[in-house]
Amino acid sequence: FDQRDGYIWMNGRIVAWADAKLHVLSHGLHYASCVFEGERAYEGRIFKSREHSERFRASAQVLDFELPYSVAELDAAKQLVVDKNNFQNCYVRPVAWRGSEMMAVAAQNSTINVAIAAWDWPSMFDMETKMKGIRLDIADYRRPDPQTAPCHAKAAGLYMICTISKHRAERRGYADAMMLDWQGRVAECTGANLFFTQKGALHTPIADCFLNGITRQTVIELAKRRGLEVVERRIMPDELSGFDECFVCGTGAEVTPVSEIGPYRFTPGVISRALIEDYSLEVRPRQQAA
Ligand code: PMP
Repeated sequence: FDQRDGYIWMNGRIVAWADAKLHVLSHGLHYASCVFEGERAYEGRIFKSREHSERFRASAQVLDFELPYSVAELDAAKQLVVDKNNFQNCYVRPVAWRGSEMMAVAAQNSTINVAIAAWDWPSMFDMETKMKGIRLDIADYRRPDPQTAPCHAKAAGLYMICTISKHRAERRGYADAMMLDWQGRVAECTGANLFFTQKGALHTPIADCFLNGITRQTVIELAKRRGLEVVERRIMPDELSGFDECFVCGTGAEVTPVSEIGPYRFTPGVISRALIEDYSLEVRPRQQAA
């Protein structure tokens, strides 16, 4: 991944892809003092760029550091990366970490580094493939409680259990894994939020110990615009048999129907299809009024 053509923004300047390096004694690598974002550009414009930049800065603050760039500066830098690489539809990855000046748990005086990369990542499935649904395993690891980990930050350290769970799911032939929370309730997937439908209404877990995804918030808004009822509530795994449709959503996944979670079966249907369509329209840059 580190040898390819293209440009990466690093600490305020554009560098060649292969030159965007850091030292092996970076605190972020050893102690996970690292936060990141995941965004998508459509037709050359990043969807909800400001919301992502705000979350990026907030995640850093939760990890006790301040990004040395404002939301406006981050937005401009991200757009520069998209433009400089000549991307239309791509994934954008801002990342910030403590540098290599101090190598111990405490690292108050280390530099804060920020980089922004982007790469091609087209929406992977056409509607008919999507509507077949993906299969989800049920992860062994649970989302930690808010008193155990800073669960609302998009912090690198929180992804350790996601990578382990996703690898296990893939080895067992699944696309991803559903994770429960510390109390055994349905939480989310390893990199996306979860929705279900019941009698025409959307049901989704309360985002009280996992990321309240920007896509999740967008989907809730789109559903309400359609007049659908949206119920945010505690959902236990044994309730999954009572739902009709299920889908995951996230910047990467967009809206992707689910056909199976462990022993439970779902039939992707009209609500998933409608929200896939609504989302794909919503992410397109708006035409400027003449
Ligand atoms: N949960 C986790 C664990 C994630 O990594 C992501 C992707 N950032 C999401 C949910 C969805 O968040 P968003 O819609 O903001 O991409």
